[in-house]
Amino acid sequence: MPRRYSPPDGQIVQAFTFALEPTDEQSAQIARFFGARRFAFNWALATITTDLERYRATGESTSSPSFYSLRKRWNAEKDVVCVNAETGEVWWPEVSKEVFADGVRGASDAYWRWQKSRSGRTAGRPVGFPRFKKRGHDRDRFSFTTGTMRLEADRRHLTLPVLGTLRTHENTRRLERLIALGRAKVLGVMLSRHGDRIIAAVRVSVARPQRAGVARPDSVVGIDVGVRRLATVATTTEVIGELANPRALERRLKELRRLQRQRCRRTRGSRQYAETGAKITRLHAEVAHIRQHNIHVFTTNLAKTHGVVVVEGLDAASLLHQKGLPGARARRRGLSDAAMSEIRRQLRYKCPWYGSTLIEADRFFPSSKTCHGCGHVQHIGWSEHWTCEECSSTHQRDDNAAINLARWASLGSVGAPVKRGAEHQTEFRSAAGDDTRKGGPESSGPNNSVRSAA
Ligand SMILES: [Zn+2]
Repeated sequence: MPRRYSPPDGQIVQAFTFALEPTDEQSAQIARFFGARRFAFNWALATITTDLERYRATGESTSSPSFYSLRKRWNAEKDVVCVNAETGEVWWPEVSKEVFADGVRGASDAYWRWQKSRSGRTAGRPVGFPRFKKRGHDRDRFSFTTGTMRLEADRRHLTLPVLGTLRTHENTRRLERLIALGRAKVLGVMLSRHGDRIIAAVRVSVARPQRAGVARPDSVVGIDVGVRRLATVATTTEVIGELANPRALERRLKELRRLQRQRCRRTRGSRQYAETGAKITRLHAEVAHIRQHNIHVFTTNLAKTHGVVVVEGLDAASLLHQKGLPGARARRRGLSDAAMSEIRRQLRYKCPWYGSTLIEADRFFPSSKTCHGCGHVQHIGWSEHWTCEECSSTHQRDDNAAINLARWASLGSVGAPVKRGAEHQTEFRSAAGDDTRKGGPESSGPNNSVRSAA
């Protein structure tokens, strides 16, 4: 089963990521490792599948496909399996054994996730049987969990097993300092490709100092994530903040559209097609980074400031708004849904860090189409501004929704909304693990219960 490291009391597991600047030789080595991980994953999956088929046909059972038993079999077979067809050379010694172990573990974890889901022991959507990984269809990555993993004191280098010392694109100060002070310990490092960059995610167990508490413990705010602006922050009576889509982002989105049109005009497989493709990849990465950075600043600020933060519940946006949207708007809506999930994910761990309480409104709570003046609910279509049929007050869509969400905090005491607090302390996006769909904790539990009418 996927093992989970539980940090000692007062510590949490956190990942710090750094872009790397490998030498040409290191780049080639990393690329080979990506392939080797895939190779070991596919070998393990084929082994599991063969065992299963034999068991189904003859009833003859083999050892359970645990990581340990599979790794043992890998070590017994690697001399036969890892042979270059042309030269006849055995190639596994060129690759770190950790990379193979990572691939084998990935297949074993994926198998057990499928087993568990099949027997109804996981929440969320069913997990399929693992599939073979293909270059270009799989995220290039591998992890180290043992061996020399060290941030160098010059704060510009990271030392890893076999690969040696790699230069980092950015300064590693924010993590190097914690390690030097003895407040953080390295648990593992994952290297992966994002666009044309190699990123190292350094997983550490870190002691976080207890904060004094939020700046305004009595403050209750609602957050609406919208199409026109990234987010709106409101108290129960008025809007107190907006997070616009950053201009740097808008500019790149425009450039991205231009390049996509350009690529369409070129011949698939040509040099120019590939060149435009590379530019698009880089822009996509930039867009993702800008968005992620802005959301991080925003959620940290919220969690540090307000006593209670209320957000839309899971899937509320897609359930209520997605139907019948024209193309461009649907895409933007898709973006804001993604932003909502990311904001919610970050608040779930940051609120407990800083002593704030996160409340997720019921997914069926009509925050957009309820008049915050009189409580009347009506159909409002796609307009940015609308007028209440009952009390004739006019509303800006996002402003009204944010105010209603802030009010959910007290409304909720009638129908008992679910508070997300300390019990979700360490909900991080796992740095390792394979990409079979995860039945996240958000899809289970009492959170989906429909609020009884007050
Ligand atoms: Zn009204």
